[in-house]
Amino acid sequence: MKIQGRLCVLTLERPHGYSYDAGQYCDIRIGEVSRSFSFLSIPSDGELKFGIEIVKDSLFSQALMSISGGEDILITQAQGRYQIDENYEKLTLLSGGIGVVPHLSFLDDLAIKGKLVMVRVLASYRGQEFFADKLKSFEGKGANVSITNTSTQSRFDFSDLSFAENEGVYICGSSEFVSNTIGDLSDRCTNLHFETFSG
Ligand SMILES: Cc1cc2nc3c(=O)[nH]c(=O)nc-3n(C[C@H](O)[C@H](O)[C@H](O)COP(=O)(O)OP(=O)(O)OC[C@H]3O[C@@H](n4cnc5c(N)ncnc54)[C@H](O)[C@@H]3O)c2cc1C
Repeated sequence: MKIQGRLCVLTLERPHGYSYDAGQYCDIRIGEVSRSFSFLSIPSDGELKFGIEIVKDSLFSQALMSISGGEDILITQAQGRYQIDENYEKLTLLSGGIGVVPHLSFLDDLAIKGKLVMVRVLASYRGQEFFADKLKSFEGKGANVSITNTSTQSRFDFSDLSFAENEGVYICGSSEFVSNTIGDLSDRCTNLHFETFSG
């Protein structure tokens, strides 16, 4: 487990035969507390990795911070349908805060399959820029990456964005981020997919 500010990267042994797709999530149980977390790792990795925001007053964050090693951490089977449809010619990935996690898994997975082309990445943060360096590492390798931090900058202005007919738009973050973004884009793009990070 690695902690950097409010980010915890949790690495777990991958159970034998455990399968998942990039963009999916599972429930992680520590003691009595269970919450859903998207995979940060990709299916070809040997370990399972998660990027977890440490939240004040969160029961799960408290349970996570109390781990000293040796505890049982239970995970469910992979769930969810937030997955890239590889038939799209272009992709736009829009995240708010820790909602960047499944998008990193998408990017790594596409890169390893040699399919990282025409991907536009927009990540918005309100404070700590989770995995911003990792995101920037995809710049110029088939992805165009823009990051904004609303603690010092204004929100993304989506009014200038245009979308191709066969473009998949993926939105992930808090329910407020997801609903605002869908509201901004729904009249201009048809292929919207979203994952909401709320309990
Ligand atoms: C599909 C999905 C993927 C997610 N991926 C990530 C990720 O990659 N990284 C990340 O940091 N966060 C992720 N989250 C958010 C994460 O699951 C927690 O919501 C977040 O860590 C805040 O946890 P919390 O303890 O404050 O409770 P919250 O989820 O904010 O819920 C508030 C309250 O609701 C109740 N509650 C919520 N869920 C449960 C439950 N399962 N069982 C019992 N009571 C419950 C509890 O009383 C809790 O205190 C994801 C959420 C979803 C739905």
